[in-house]
Amino acid sequence: MYLYNSATRKKELFVPNNPELVKMYTCGPTVYHFAHIGNLRTYIMEDVLEKYLRYVGFPVKRVMNITDVGHLTSDADEGEDKMVKGAKRENKTVMDIAKFYTDAFFEDCRKLNIKRPDVVEPATNCIPEYITIITKLLDTGYAYQAGGNIYFDSSKLEKYYIFNDHNEEDLAVGVREGVEEDTNKRNKNDFVLWFTKSKFEDQALKWDSPWGVGYPGWHIECSGISLKHLGEDLDIHCGGIDNAFPHHTNEIAQSESYLGHPWCKYWVHAMHLNTNDGKMSKSKGEFLTVSLLEKKGYDPVVYRFFCLQSHYRKNLVFTWENLDNAVIAYGKLIDKIAALKTDSGEAVDEAVMQSLRERFKKGLDGDLNTSLGITALYDVLKAKTNDATKLAALDEFDYVLSLDLLKNAEKVREEARKAEAAEERDPVIDGLVADRTAAKKAKNFAEADRIRDELKAMGIEIIDTPQGTKWKRI
Ligand code: AMP
Ligand code: ZN
Repeated sequence: MYLYNSATRKKELFVPNNPELVKMYTCGPTVYHFAHIGNLRTYIMEDVLEKYLRYVGFPVKRVMNITDVGHLTSDADEGEDKMVKGAKRENKTVMDIAKFYTDAFFEDCRKLNIKRPDVVEPATNCIPEYITIITKLLDTGYAYQAGGNIYFDSSKLEKYYIFNDHNEEDLAVGVREGVEEDTNKRNKNDFVLWFTKSKFEDQALKWDSPWGVGYPGWHIECSGISLKHLGEDLDIHCGGIDNAFPHHTNEIAQSESYLGHPWCKYWVHAMHLNTNDGKMSKSKGEFLTVSLLEKKGYDPVVYRFFCLQSHYRKNLVFTWENLDNAVIAYGKLIDKIAALKTDSGEAVDEAVMQSLRERFKKGLDGDLNTSLGITALYDVLKAKTNDATKLAALDEFDYVLSLDLLKNAEKVREEARKAEAAEERDPVIDGLVADRTAAKKAKNFAEADRIRDELKAMGIEIIDTPQGTKWKRI
């Protein structure tokens, strides 16, 4: 499999440190509010990546943090803790907010068929791990204490910027735009490992440390949690593209300085879901959540399908019209699957199955091209083989895509069965419908249309379905 590695800016053949266990870390949500569907685009991509690795035979251990402390309103260590802000907004405690939005996040994931990672670790669980790392960074001169806080000293690194070609001045200005400068920092890229002197006296969660009572910075949590559960050599680290700088850049700085060797082989970043007017936001405009999709009558799985139709390394624009198009395409796909016979008693043709598998893998092996993965589903439907083979292939590929293909096709069949059972029978109308079907089959469309009009004049509407033509009184 080839994956685009943001660290080398190349597509690279994926070769894990140890094929017996792929170690995968994914940055989790900051649980101060609901996730928006942009955040969930990133988690869908990560879910497909994990499942695809498992599908091709790699055992995977996937770890995710839950950010419940230390993520300030600016990614560059400035502003208020997002959790404190959420608690104030809702007049609740930080821990109540964290529990509520963590549960809400996993409920959204469940609806989108996103598997729960093997390990989910709240940042507040790992304070001793952060203290161990920070202590060593201080001992080895990579960190310093100033104004009560502990900072990482970015001037100690030969190379700080990993993911960007931008010149350093531009980036630094971008980060600090409109933000009050922290005069304790020795260098513009230094970042806080441990806060003791917050500008915000109401910081709810604080812990004892060798440097005074305080709380960890956001970046240290992902290094600490990853090292705790996945050890010193990480295979894949994922997140949305906004995490590349400064979050992941700082994770690399502190993890590699702590370990004394390279840390993570592949950095995989999902591009953003945007709205027509730009960046998705939790405060401005319509707050796009899974619940909102459901309230408007959309099956969340259709949103997953919408995401998988495009490549994760391209920005994706969300509009209701685009989602409606996905509803139509998904519905057609499910109808085609519903038309396959489930009780044919035929044997799966292994040779055909193998060639369908190759086609599916060809798409996903190329940097997780899920839109080619979806094309492979249509290839299955068109393949010259029996329905049992088609259903087996669709079921197998849906382990990776998780689009509820067979489940929703069965629902369509069930609906059709129910409709049929409730259907009125009338020998004259049934006869005309049969004549129209025969005319269509004979490509006599004029006659087919004439019969349709005749039925319409009798107050009968006809509906063509994968299970044949139905009729109802208008
Ligand atoms: P947060 O809860 O803000 O820490 O973000 C959770 C995840 O969503 C991170 O991996 C972010 O990089 C990612 N993310 C944030 N905004 C977007 C977006 N508009 N589209 C896709 N991913 C996003
Ligand atoms: Zn992280």
